[in-house]
Formats: sequence, structure tokens, C-alpha cells
Amino acid sequence: MQSCDKCKIDIRGNKARCPLCGGKLKGEAEFPAFPVLKRKVMTRALLVRIAAFILFAFCVSMVVVDYASGTGISWLPLAIISAFVGFADICVTAYYHNNPLKTITVQIYVGMIISVIVDYFTGWHAWSVTWVMPSAFCGMVVVTIVTGLILRMKLQDFVLYLLFDTVLALIQFVFIMKGRNPFPLPAVISIALIIIFFAGILLFRWRDFASASSRYFNT
Ligand SMILES: [Zn+2]
Repeated sequence: MQSCDKCKIDIRGNKARCPLCGGKLKGEAEFPAFPVLKRKVMTRALLVRIAAFILFAFCVSMVVVDYASGTGISWLPLAIISAFVGFADICVTAYYHNNPLKTITVQIYVGMIISVIVDYFTGWHAWSVTWVMPSAFCGMVVVTIVTGLILRMKLQDFVLYLLFDTVLALIQFVFIMKGRNPFPLPAVISIALIIIFFAGILLFRWRDFASASSRYFNT
């Protein structure tokens, strides 16, 4: 047990100095009386391992789906290439960018634009606006929130990303009105979900939104 000659006290555990006078302690330190809890932290290596696992699971299941479909899926190579590009993105983001949220947002938008362009130049089968865009917008909202939680950000630090996504999700209406989307249901559902979600933020977390907006527009 440690002790302080000046204060005439014994001290349990392992202290560098006397908690009362700050002076030097005599005696042997003990193990701490209470266990020390380690905070779990999302490290880059863990993030990359999770991404690698998801990539592996995705590729294996795509091969299974391809086999099960009998005739084979024409877009299988594209899906697997996209998955590898996504994995590379995550590695780059984890190691080289100090604003992961911004990087992820930009990459998802670039992915959406590329899918529309590829769709356009391959004869417009409308898969980009029917499936890619609705799932990308909903996915982006989820990814933004999950990333915010992993990075231990406050809602006011990423709520403007959610506003941005909500406004841009309305672009899907343009494709519907121009007759470019032959099956608008997924797009309409995704817009509705995102608008409902954002209305919830405005109603229940208005302070976060107001402070984020004033900070952004006043500086
Ligand atoms: Zn002391």
C-alpha cells in the first residue's frame, strides 16, 4: 500500500502522487481497486476489416445469386467491380481523409451520376433512376447517421448533410415528370421516407438544425 507521510494517509491502488497534497508517496503501489474500462474505439484497421468482410460476403452471395438464376446475371461483373471500387474508396477514406462524411457523400453522388451516364449510353433501361438513385439516397441518409455516430459527432455537425440529401432527393421527381422513369414507385417511396425523416428532425431536433444553420450561414 502507498502512503503519504505529510498527510498521514494510506492510499489504495496505484497513484503517482498524493491526491491531497500532491507530494511524493512511499510504499508499494497496488492493483487499482476498481477495474478500468477501456472505451471501444472504431479504428481505421477495424473499419477496413469490416469493409473487407462485407466485400467478401457480397462477392460470394453475388456468385450464388448468379448460379441460382440459371441464365446468369448480365450486370454481375459491373456489380463486383463497383463493390471493389467501393472497398478501395473506404480504404482511401479511412486513411487519407480527415472529413470522411464529406468524402463519402461526394463518392455516393459521383456513383449516382456515373450510373445515370452509363444507363444513358447503354440505351436507357432506366435502372439508374428506378433502383440506384432511390436506394442511394436512402442509403446515404443511413450512412451519414452511422458515420456521425462512429465519429461521435453531434447531430448539429452533420444535420446539414441530411438537409442537402433531402433537397437533392427531389431531383428524382424531374426524371419522373420527364417520363424517364417507367417504374416510379421506388423513387416516390424513397423521397417520401427521406422527407418524413427530415420532418422528424425539424420537429424533434430543431435546436440542432437551427444552430447548424446559423453557424453555416453567418460565417
Ligand atoms: Zn499528502
